[in-house]
Amino acid sequence: MPKWIFVTGGVLSGLGKGLVSASVSKLLQQRDLTITPIKCDGYLNVDPGTMNPHEHGEVFVLEDGTEVDMDFGHYERFLGVETSGKQNLTSGKVFKQVIEKEREGEYLGKTVQMVPHVTDHMKDLMREAGEEKDSDINIVEIGGTVGDIENQVFLEAVRQLRSQLPEEDTYLIHTTLVPYLDTVGEQKTKPTQHSVKELQSLGLEPDMIVGRSGEELDEEVRRKIALFCDVEEEEVISDPDLEYIYQLPIELDEQSVDKIIAGKMQLAEKNGGLKEWRSRAENLKNDTISSIAICGKYTDIDDSYASVEEALKHAGAELGGQVEIEYIGTEEFHKEDLEGFDGVIIPGGFGSRGVEGKIQAIEYCRENDIPLLGLCYGMQLMTVEFARNVLGIEDAASEEFADDKEGQELVVAEMSGQKDIDEMGGTMRLGSYTAEVEGQVKEIYGSATATERHRHRYELNPDFHDRLEAEGLKISGKMQEGNLAEYIELPENNFFIGTQAHPEFTSTFENPNPLYLSFLESTT
Ligand code: GLN
Repeated sequence: MPKWIFVTGGVLSGLGKGLVSASVSKLLQQRDLTITPIKCDGYLNVDPGTMNPHEHGEVFVLEDGTEVDMDFGHYERFLGVETSGKQNLTSGKVFKQVIEKEREGEYLGKTVQMVPHVTDHMKDLMREAGEEKDSDINIVEIGGTVGDIENQVFLEAVRQLRSQLPEEDTYLIHTTLVPYLDTVGEQKTKPTQHSVKELQSLGLEPDMIVGRSGEELDEEVRRKIALFCDVEEEEVISDPDLEYIYQLPIELDEQSVDKIIAGKMQLAEKNGGLKEWRSRAENLKNDTISSIAICGKYTDIDDSYASVEEALKHAGAELGGQVEIEYIGTEEFHKEDLEGFDGVIIPGGFGSRGVEGKIQAIEYCRENDIPLLGLCYGMQLMTVEFARNVLGIEDAASEEFADDKEGQELVVAEMSGQKDIDEMGGTMRLGSYTAEVEGQVKEIYGSATATERHRHRYELNPDFHDRLEAEGLKISGKMQEGNLAEYIELPENNFFIGTQAHPEFTSTFENPNPLYLSFLESTT
């Protein structure tokens, strides 16, 4: 039977509960325990696939093709494990299933209620997610804060689990904000006290309080929180601002977080010490080895490209230094914007906004042999640029942004055959696909195949493959079953590679993605 750790949050959302969950999981993993991260989100969307990155940050895609909350990116990057769609519960998903069960008559005429029917279903889904992975510990993060209306049912399910299981089998970590008040020059504990009261009013007692703050928590502050919130002083943990998220497991290790948890949960005595992790994290403090421009549409919110940024940092840590990342908006693009950068990334995206600027950026990189990595939309636009400027097809476009879909040459288009192999039933190609690779890409992966995750609707139009190749744009990776282009490269350039996939989703701190690594290497 697995043990359970629950992570809740108070005062504000966005305190980094996902990072706390991922870091605690990492520490426990170092004790040779297997961990299944589970995330519960209160919103009514069935999954975040349709949510605007402006509002919700990046949509993370799992190997099985499920679109999930970006916290899954942290879990996978920290733990180096693959998660599954079962591990993301949303209110929308739970309610939909309960209502479907009701329509099928499964409740045998009973009045279907939040408690026990919805809470029972939540507990079943959490257990199922855990069973699928069969780990020692399921760590369940409840999104948002304890005061949110939409979280009440999840928290009630947590309360029931806590009261049904032996005391040593569950643990609750509550993350709060400890603000520093300039005028009085001290850290304030009142918001934490209130938020713990709110938690207690839901029948939940915290075992550990993690206080987000600018600096380490003062001794006096820890004492006060311990006293008011019914935990031991050592169970009040500092979670100060850190330059890199990868420092958090180290910060928590230094406060013996895993040891404290292991004591209460009666886990085997062992400390992994984070040796490999620490040496990589040290590298992030070294000098900058490369500066990279990411040309995108959502330039005002970098969470939209969280995985791309992290994958670059993983590669940096492996190569021994920091990577400077700057966002360049392409709605108004000038070639001078790219001067001084060692490499350029054209990330994934949707719609027509900023597209022409991205194409100009690609042209600039191709002509000046500046290392360029094109991701998904980025690769599609690399092809459009090549078709326009090298093949001389002036109106070359993607079906996604062509004004005249019938009249223009659609180098990137929706492939009708594609819909048959779409497992999600929607129109997007989602999840892992394997490509047969050759050329530079084969060398980079060190293998004749490469498996990466996808999230896109359009494909490079196979009618153009031969013409593009004839002019030197090599299609260096094709989907194993089918004639779809997965990688392109321009062998005459140092690094000019595009992929239809999102290799950033498989990059982890301890095992950087080879394509990112090679790209970064080419910029140093
Ligand atoms: N908009 C493009 C498509 O749907 C690319 C998507 C992406 O970059 N994720 O095919």
